[in-house]
Amino acid sequence: AGMLYPRIASVVGSVLSFQDVRASLYRFLEYHRVMPAVHEPPEAVELLLEEGKVIFENVWFGYKPEEPVLKGLSATFEPRKITAVVGRSGVGKSTLARLLVRLYDPWEGRILIDNVDIRQVTIESLRNNIRYVIQGEFLFSGSIWDNICYGVGSCSEEQVFAAAGKAGADEFIMQLPEGFHTRIGEGGFQLSSGEAQRIALARLFLANPRIVVLDEPTSFLDPETESAIHQAIMDLKETATVIVIAHRPSTVKIADHIIVLDNGVVAEQGTHAELLGKKGLYAAIYTELCRREPGLPVKKEVCTPA
Ligand code: ADP
Ligand code: MG
Repeated sequence: AGMLYPRIASVVGSVLSFQDVRASLYRFLEYHRVMPAVHEPPEAVELLLEEGKVIFENVWFGYKPEEPVLKGLSATFEPRKITAVVGRSGVGKSTLARLLVRLYDPWEGRILIDNVDIRQVTIESLRNNIRYVIQGEFLFSGSIWDNICYGVGSCSEEQVFAAAGKAGADEFIMQLPEGFHTRIGEGGFQLSSGEAQRIALARLFLANPRIVVLDEPTSFLDPETESAIHQAIMDLKETATVIVIAHRPSTVKIADHIIVLDNGVVAEQGTHAELLGKKGLYAAIYTELCRREPGLPVKKEVCTPA
C-alpha cells in the first residue's frame, strides 16, 4: 500500500494533513487495495488536448462485483462550459470524477477526451491535464507559498501573486506576520475553512488546467468565500472544461448545463430553468439543497423564486 500513497497524493494535489481529510484518504487507500490497479499499455501516448471535450459513453462501474454504481452512464462535458453534476448522496458523483482521472477503469464503456479513450494515453499526461479538487482542505503542512505552488514544476513570484489575487486570498495572506511564507497545518497558523478554500483555489489557478473537476465542499462557507469560488469557476471556464460536483444551490445556478444522476444513469439534464420547469428529480433536489443551506443572506436570494 505504500506505493499507492504518492500516486493518490498526486491526483489529489497534495499530501493531506488535516485529520478528517486524512481519514478519508485512508478510506480511499482501503478501497484501492481491493481494486486491480489501472493498467497503462506499453503503446500509451501523450494526451494531446485540443478542445478538451469529455465524453462518458455507456459507462458501467462499481466497487464490488455485482454491485454497479454507474449503470451505463452516458454524458458529455463541453469545453468552456460549467457542467454541474448533482444527485443524492451515494449516487456516484465522486465515482465519476475518480474514473476520469483513472483511479479506476470502467467495467464496460469508455471515457473519451477529444475522442481518445483515456486508457490509450499515459496516466501522467492524463493527470497533468486534469485537476481533480476533492472536498475538504487538501492543504499540507508547509508555507502558504509551497501550498500554492504545489504540483507545478516551478513558479514565479508573479504567478503566485496573481493566482492568490484571483482566488481572493491575497488580502488575508498579506495580513499574516510572515505573509506568503507563513507556515500552515500542524503546528502552524490555523486557517479558517474559507481561507483554506481560497488557497486551494489559488493553487488551481496557478496550475491552470484544461479540465477541472471540483468536488464542491458541503461544509459551511462564508459568503465571501462562496463568491470567490464562483468567480474562480467562471474564470476557469474561459480556458477549461469545468465539471463541478455541486452541493450548493448558488453553484447550480451559475452552471451552463446540469446533469442529474440517479440510479447509475443521467436521469435529467438541462439548464437550471429547464430542469426546474420539469418539476421532477432536479426540482426536488434543488429544494432540498436550499433547505439544507444555513440561511445566509446570499442564499435567500438564490433560493427565492424570481
Ligand atoms: P457520491 O459522490 O454521489 O455521494 P460516491 O461516488 O462517493 O457517491 O459513491 C457511490 C457509491 O459507491 C456509494 O454507495 C458509496 O458507498 C460506494 N463507494 C464509494 N467508494 C467506494 C469504495 N471505494 N468501495 C466500496 N464502495 C464505495
Ligand atoms: Mg461525493
